[in-house]
Amino acid sequence: MGGDGLRDVVAGLDIGGTGTSVVLVDGERVVARQHGATPAGEGGPAMVAAAAGLVRSALRAAPGTRLAGAGVGAAGVVDPATGTVVAASDSFAGWAGFGLADALGDALGVPVAVENDVNAFALGEARSGAARGLADVLAVTLGTGVGGALVLGGNLYRGPSGAAGEIGHVAGFGDLPCTCGGRGHLETLASGRAVARAFERATGLAVPGARQVAELARAGDGDARRAFDDAAHAVGRAAVLVATLLDVTDVVVGGGVASAWDLLGPGIAASVRREPPVSGADVRVAPSALGREAVALGAATVAPAGALSLLG
Ligand SMILES: [Zn+2]
Repeated sequence: MGGDGLRDVVAGLDIGGTGTSVVLVDGERVVARQHGATPAGEGGPAMVAAAAGLVRSALRAAPGTRLAGAGVGAAGVVDPATGTVVAASDSFAGWAGFGLADALGDALGVPVAVENDVNAFALGEARSGAARGLADVLAVTLGTGVGGALVLGGNLYRGPSGAAGEIGHVAGFGDLPCTCGGRGHLETLASGRAVARAFERATGLAVPGARQVAELARAGDGDARRAFDDAAHAVGRAAVLVATLLDVTDVVVGGGVASAWDLLGPGIAASVRREPPVSGADVRVAPSALGREAVALGAATVAPAGALSLLG
């Protein structure tokens, strides 16, 4: 608490392709939350203006607080050292090369740190979600693509080029073409797109996405069921791969496809039981406990919050 009686809080932001989520965090407690649309087609400054507006709304909803810093989880490749977006998908106009930390810092008047969204997801789940209290965790997100991140010894493990944990693009999972240009990657079986395409190949019927395949699977459709079984088996094999290589035996799975955990969870568990790591260790695979706030909560943990108290 500052000398003026205001409580310092930090903001965690998740700037995704369609929506932006904001949480205000006081220690371990969320004191306000906001959600709005991301103007992804309008360029970096528009996305920052929308995000800053959500932070201001959240602050108005939490009287007696003062913003000390903010952390952002952003899709794409980001440079945490500079807070710049290095590469992003086509759905984000003017995002690659954008100085996100500087722009949001100017808008909010506080220091800002930027982290990749999958890394932020991993930090959120490790801090207060399904992996709470665990030092070593593999986090996997099954969305449009498949992302991965490693928490080792309680810290995010980036590796020398910052690409550690990218399990979605490990080969050995069949022979289908991957969005990255490779073949047979985990993503070709376990992403939302992959589940939908698998159903379409089997039936000749077009579906908008994995959610519709999940509904069909629950209604007893065998082809829909098999698309999820294949995704589950692939995720289980990936979990065992990491457990064998690193002895990391706790896995948290998030992303849109993981919301069909009733269809995925049993298949993942069966896959892990069928081909356990050579150590014989139990591999525990759990769904995200924080749902759509996981990235924002993880981003809040990287917010630089010391600058104002140093000035004060
Ligand atoms: Zn790939």
